[in-house]
Amino acid sequence: MRDDTRQWIEADKRHAWHPFTPQDAWTDPAHEPLVIVRGEGPWLWDSEGRRYLDGNSSIWTNIHGHAHPSINAAIRDQLGRIAHSSYLGFAHPLAGELAEKLCSFFPAGTLERVFFSDDGSTAIEVAMKMSLQFRMQTGHAERRGFIAFADGYHGDTLGAASLGGVSRFFERFRGMGPEVGFVRSVEELETKDPAGINAVVIEPLIQGVNEMRPWPAGMLRALRAWCDRHGVLLILDEVMTGFGRTGTLFACQREGVIPDFLCVAKGLTGGYLPMAATLTTGRIYDAFRGPAENAFYYGHSFTANPLGCAAALASLSLFESERVLEKLPAKADHLAGLLSRLQADRDEVVDVRQCGLVAGIELRTGLGAEVCLKARDHGLLTRPIRDTLVLMPPLCVETEHLDLAVDAIRSAIRSLP
Ligand code: PLP
Repeated sequence: MRDDTRQWIEADKRHAWHPFTPQDAWTDPAHEPLVIVRGEGPWLWDSEGRRYLDGNSSIWTNIHGHAHPSINAAIRDQLGRIAHSSYLGFAHPLAGELAEKLCSFFPAGTLERVFFSDDGSTAIEVAMKMSLQFRMQTGHAERRGFIAFADGYHGDTLGAASLGGVSRFFERFRGMGPEVGFVRSVEELETKDPAGINAVVIEPLIQGVNEMRPWPAGMLRALRAWCDRHGVLLILDEVMTGFGRTGTLFACQREGVIPDFLCVAKGLTGGYLPMAATLTTGRIYDAFRGPAENAFYYGHSFTANPLGCAAALASLSLFESERVLEKLPAKADHLAGLLSRLQADRDEVVDVRQCGLVAGIELRTGLGAEVCLKARDHGLLTRPIRDTLVLMPPLCVETEHLDLAVDAIRSAIRSLP
């Protein structure tokens, strides 16, 4: 190991605290974490000069690859003007343009307002608080309850966490946030009394942290219909599925569903900077107009950060100039073929699940971490969720990158003792 790598790791182990990480295992002297120092396209390099395919898009954020010249140039250009200015009481040239662009993806008169925040969790917090305040200001303060789906994941701030159904993360904090009921299907929802329910929250088309589990076709439409029948608001968490991952720009477009709130983050800036947005309808927005006490008193210091806006606008224009969505079906089909051959070849593969360029490869119990670690030796970086390997590369991957990824997993399985 190079001397500077060793120094970086030692400082990290002495003072840093990693997310979702048992720290004793991390700081164990035998643990030699990779130090990622560079990226280009779908590739990452560690401090020892080894190259890997970014198999989980750097925790599901990266869309067009790393160091894309036009996103880098947009950020640099904005940096030459100003890195940050307040959106509280001021405007700047890019935030309005970005808000308008985001709304342009939906039919006129539907999602037409954008509230910016910082990450997936805050995009969800915004939707939760906005929906509750909407009820208070439209004469239905008694509608305070949320319904979420079992095993779902919506972020880690206390409000967003209360919607989380992954018990190992959230059980210890139950009851410390808003009232939330959990269901497994729309059929189960039909059995609930909708009277006190404010909103239903769901990861559309596929649950991510729940080991990449797609919903049945038509489920989202059925959910929208149930919400409409009972006057319940629909919050779609597209933090993972947004920006092309599932084949359309937003997953809800696959079923022609328009939510009351659409939460996006990770891929909004192409994965370059932390930024999020909560889109909502004119109907919701109108309830916050009028006297000052009707306002939504919520915000963060970096709301609508200009660098983030510049990256987001550049990322969205790449969808057009690089015809990203047109190229996706062939890539997704290629991946489907590779995954079904992998499952046919290897008994260790229990199930494969896929939606667009999001895939989960479920291995036999106990194999996830080991196969993931071994796949590094074959040039693939990713993380398992329990025993499911996540394969969610940047959308710019070519078929040969997908071949490499699935070959790396196959070789890693073969090399198991
Ligand atoms: N919602 C979903 C569906 C997610 O997958 C995530 C993160 O993985 C979040 C919300 C939380 O986003 P963040 O980690 O940016 O707060």
